[in-house]
Amino acid sequence: MNPITATAATTHGWIFDIQRFCIHDGPGIRTTVFMKGCPLSCLWCHNPESRRQQFELAFYLSKCIHCGHCLQVCTKGAIRGDDARIDRERCTMCGRCADQCPGEALRMIGHKESVADVLAVVMRDQPFYETSGGGVTLSGGEPLYQHEFTHQLLTACKRQGLHTAIETSGGAAWERLDAIRSSVDLFLYDLKAINPEKHRQQCGVDNALILANAKRLSATGAEILFRTPIIPGFNDAEDDLRLLSEFLLQLPNPHRLELMPYHRIGSGKYEALGLTYPLPNVQAPADMDGYKAVLTQNGITCL
Ligand code: SF4
Ligand code: SF4
Repeated sequence: MNPITATAATTHGWIFDIQRFCIHDGPGIRTTVFMKGCPLSCLWCHNPESRRQQFELAFYLSKCIHCGHCLQVCTKGAIRGDDARIDRERCTMCGRCADQCPGEALRMIGHKESVADVLAVVMRDQPFYETSGGGVTLSGGEPLYQHEFTHQLLTACKRQGLHTAIETSGGAAWERLDAIRSSVDLFLYDLKAINPEKHRQQCGVDNALILANAKRLSATGAEILFRTPIIPGFNDAEDDLRLLSEFLLQLPNPHRLELMPYHRIGSGKYEALGLTYPLPNVQAPADMDGYKAVLTQNGITCL
């Protein structure tokens, strides 16, 4: 047996979604594999279900038909009669209620899949990758959090001749990035804030490792598209854009920057997971062109 296939059959990773026909996660038509686990806790995270490497139980009140099945099957007394529905202190994530819920108002998020199983899903759309110049993208969460699984999945995809991309915060030991380098065609590398204090406040961790990794990765000649989410009031001041420009301009190689406007699409997920949305008063930026103009004027190739 091919050694990759043999390893792929036994290595499992925590996945929370696999989306086919994606067009915003790299070139062409892509399959995006969303992995669980992340060392950051960005206030604007639109995938809060990705943060922990474990099951999550989500409850969507709008889908509940009030049949009462969940109350009957939960042996832990963790189902309540109110709109929040789940007593998360008592819940053991057994999943029985979700299995019995007729309207999918209760849903278990996260499962373990082997490299071989993920690869089989990815390969279904190979003809679309070929005609569109697409491929596979690993996202999350932070794919480097499960670095061995990520490495094996990327290697298996390359063996099939696929174009590979990874969405990363760069918040991992350099050795993890270095190990996957030869199996990655495109790094989609997030730069959320250059100011270390702001980064700590907004993302929960220091950015020294992230910035150091960006420099090392650039020096290798890797193809990197840096990406910055524009969060009004957090990282969109003139000084933030100046620091971002200066950082990009001193990298060993030139790279493009993509600006991504803040959105609130993930806010409903917080409620479903029993969490409070951290940015209730922040609105989507009205004019992305203004930010792009400043960065372009600073010498950055901005998408
Ligand atoms: S997952 Fe299990 S313990 Fe948690 S609420 Fe549902 S049935 Fe109860
Ligand atoms: S089983 Fe599902 S639909 Fe029925 S009451 Fe519980 S959450 Fe609502």
